[in-house]
Amino acid sequence: MKQPVVNCPQCGKIVVWNSRNPYRPFCSERCKLIDLGQWAAESYRIPDDGEKEGEPARKEREEGAQ
Ligand SMILES: [Zn+2]
Repeated sequence: MKQPVVNCPQCGKIVVWNSRNPYRPFCSERCKLIDLGQWAAESYRIPDDGEKEGEPARKEREEGAQ
């Protein structure tokens, strides 16, 4: 039976996707933790971007400069 394989999103290593790999689609716990850390960092940036978009004065200034 052919096992499906994926590339580890973190390091690109080929990972066999099966129930014996608790870290899938990652190759290891380390890669999973690294990716989760990046995801957490991304989610922290979202509120910051929202605040910037909520500043109309800044946007008008950028449009006026062109
Ligand atoms: Zn990996």
